[in-house]
Amino acid sequence: MTGFTYKNGVLHADDIALSTIADKVGTPTYVYASSTIEQNYARLANALSPLGVRIAYALKANSNQAVIATLARLGAGGDIVSGGELTRAMAAGIAPDRIVFSGVGKTADEVAQALRAGIHQFNVESIPELDLIDRVAASVGIRANVALRVNPDVDAGTHAKITTGRKDNKFGIDLDDAAAAWTRAVSLPNLNPVGLAVHIGSQLIDLTPYRAAYRRLADLVRALRAQGHEVSRLDLGGGLGVGYRGETGPDVADYAALVREMVSDLGCSLMVEPGRYLVAEAGCVLSRVLFVKDGSARRFVILDAGMNDLLRPALYDSFHAVVPVKQAAPDAVIHPADIVGPVCETGDTFAKARELPPLEQGDLVAFLHAGAYGAVMGSTYNTRPLAAEVLVAGNKFELVRPRQTVEDLLSRERIPSWLSGGDQHSPSESGQPLRSTG
Ligand SMILES: *Cc1c(COP(=O)(O)O)cnc(C)c1O
Repeated sequence: MTGFTYKNGVLHADDIALSTIADKVGTPTYVYASSTIEQNYARLANALSPLGVRIAYALKANSNQAVIATLARLGAGGDIVSGGELTRAMAAGIAPDRIVFSGVGKTADEVAQALRAGIHQFNVESIPELDLIDRVAASVGIRANVALRVNPDVDAGTHAKITTGRKDNKFGIDLDDAAAAWTRAVSLPNLNPVGLAVHIGSQLIDLTPYRAAYRRLADLVRALRAQGHEVSRLDLGGGLGVGYRGETGPDVADYAALVREMVSDLGCSLMVEPGRYLVAEAGCVLSRVLFVKDGSARRFVILDAGMNDLLRPALYDSFHAVVPVKQAAPDAVIHPADIVGPVCETGDTFAKARELPPLEQGDLVAFLHAGAYGAVMGSTYNTRPLAAEVLVAGNKFELVRPRQTVEDLLSRERIPSWLSGGDQHSPSESGQPLRSTG
């Protein structure tokens, strides 16, 4: 279920007509429906809380402050992959002791920031990372809780660019090396090894890969315990998928049953890290038709949203439903069209030969299921300012990220002194040439 429904022939987010938002805020704009985020969170929490499983929202799916704050208020912790996301999580109200730091390439500065903030744990993906965290922990004077993210070598059966749990992916520590890594963590004085983590990929519709991964994880817990190690926490990762084509997604009751069956007898405290599942359906990209161009071979519908606004189709060949904001007449003639953006790249194509009711210049359309990995992947390619973002709650809506301006973009750039008249300009932060000290 998405939070977007037709009322009186106009697509609404909760009680707000998307045409109203387009009039007030312009296009392209990301629109999020709070009610859908809340329903998704409640569904997952209801299924998992009887097992004591806590939810850490994977911020990277959508890290707008308003979205994080919506989830923080519902009780979500956070799964972060950078120091920037740590700052975002805390600014939006997630308590640091509910934050897990994931990611394969943490820097010393990020580790220090997270230690000082007092996060719950680091999910560590390599031995050199263990060594780094130990060194930084020593210098900061805070012992670090670490979980080993293991790579269970399970094929998540998802798109190659979003599968993470196979041996040839860059993520996690190989199962065969996990015991040695644990021993190493125990030997480092500033680390406190607390548990294990897995995350096998994203957009999983079928639960079978989870079963295989959790079985291997549980076996590893038993093996480590048999060697005398104390393993008290399991982080079961994210990856629950959504039905982009209208198919039914994974049933969270089935997922909870699987968690119960595979790991609950271990007595570990349990956590999951969903991103997409919580927010994908809650968002759309609202866009306007710039032109309809009838080529000799096909019809192109050219939108004011481009791949810089919604990258997923270009990056992952992802499918997003495109629907007209003004509901089509039941007898409208359906015609195939390529839905494209204005960016100067052939890859800036959202859909090929999509069967759509007639669209005309000036019509509004919405890309559904765009609440996850949408705005966060935005770029300014072609000097296209980042799109606005709006949060709707019932009959209220607010701008939660104003549209960027070209002035914003230019204000971040500098013309070096030797091109701008150099010394004749008053010295400023911008005008000082940096000299090599080597
Ligand atoms: C991206 C990511 C997630 C969230 O994945 P979804 O598919 O959005 O649920 C969770 N954990 C880790 C470590 C991730 O990298």
